[in-house]
Amino acid sequence: MLPNHDSANYSFPKMSCSKVFMSSSSAALILSCLLLLLVNADCSPPDYPIKCLHNNHECTITNIYGTFPDRSTCQVAGVVYPSSEDELVSVVAAATKIKRKMKVATRYSASIPKSVCPTDEGGHLISTLNLNKIHKVDKVAGTMTVDTGVTLRRLINEAAEAGLALPNSPYWWGLTVGGMLETGAHGSSLWGSGSAVHDYVVEIRIVSPGGPEDGFVKVRTLNESHAEFDAAKVSLGVLGVISQVTFRLEPLFKRSVTYMTKDDNDLGDEALVFGKQYEFAELTRYPTRCKVLHCIDDRVPSTTLGNGLNDFFRFRSTLVPSLALNRLAGE
Ligand SMILES: Cc1cc2nc3c(=O)[nH]c(=O)nc-3n(C[C@H](O)[C@H](O)[C@H](O)COP(=O)(O)OP(=O)(O)OC[C@H]3O[C@@H](n4cnc5c(N)ncnc54)[C@H](O)[C@@H]3O)c2cc1C
Repeated sequence: MLPNHDSANYSFPKMSCSKVFMSSSSAALILSCLLLLLVNADCSPPDYPIKCLHNNHECTITNIYGTFPDRSTCQVAGVVYPSSEDELVSVVAAATKIKRKMKVATRYSASIPKSVCPTDEGGHLISTLNLNKIHKVDKVAGTMTVDTGVTLRRLINEAAEAGLALPNSPYWWGLTVGGMLETGAHGSSLWGSGSAVHDYVVEIRIVSPGGPEDGFVKVRTLNESHAEFDAAKVSLGVLGVISQVTFRLEPLFKRSVTYMTKDDNDLGDEALVFGKQYEFAELTRYPTRCKVLHCIDDRVPSTTLGNGLNDFFRFRSTLVPSLALNRLAGE
């Protein structure tokens, strides 16, 4: 039982002088750390991944983590920023005509692999930073047509304004529509066809290199009636630049999320049952601790009252010294 602090019989534990000295110096240390934090605390959103020596020429690109798996730097001769499909078409045509290699870069370049890097150093980047318009929202049909550079955050917010929801998505909302499709990004679900973002796409427009007879560029509109649709949606950028995407969304709903930690001894049997039980069920295993974090995540009507709290720890902001210590431990 815990001691009752209000009780007259409760006596404080005796402390030796040295302990008192230690605890006051630790308190001073903690206080100075807190003061330092107050002075220096700063939040640092991800850096822009493209850096150029001058005027969008002689550039480097990295990913959101600041390093590719092979620790190399990706050098490119230049970067262009089309802000409409017409401008994108001109860029692709001009590059194809002179056989220039091009790759597509996004706002944060969130992928770990180096797939954004052209295969030669004379290559260029087409950034989708300014391809960020919402073209059409049809509340009745539940569809929404957006530019490829629109971020997940904006997609979710604009859809919600129209009473619509993208039911499944990756965790981080800085990803772009084009990047999510091209990498097959997903949430977590065993229900229906799964949790991939591209399963909610009903049409894409893709700008690809063409021959001289096409003016060196081809713009295709692909939908479920085309055999190439599935391949073109998830193609790591090798088939051209996705320009616009039409989603079929669902009526807005809320999600009820609860976390529970359990031992992992019956994980093999439990995973399938758990996955079928909750629409957005998710399991994270911590093998060294023999534990599994169960995310009990289900759809509820949007009128359901809740506390709006998602106390998921993985993507919380983290103190820089703690990140540095983790990295040192890893190395
Ligand atoms: C914090 C964090 C959390 C994440 N959580 C999840 C998660 O829960 N689930 C999950 O599946 N993934 C997750 N990811 C990975 C993420 O899904 C991928 O990194 C993401 O899809 C990349 O999106 P991006 O817009 O940054 O594209 P980039 O990484 O910049 O590009 C990815 C590839 O697509 C190409 N590309 C981009 N746009 C186009 C376009 N318009 N046309 C043609 N090619 C294009 C690029 O050239 C590149 O090859 C997470 C990443 C981070 C950083």
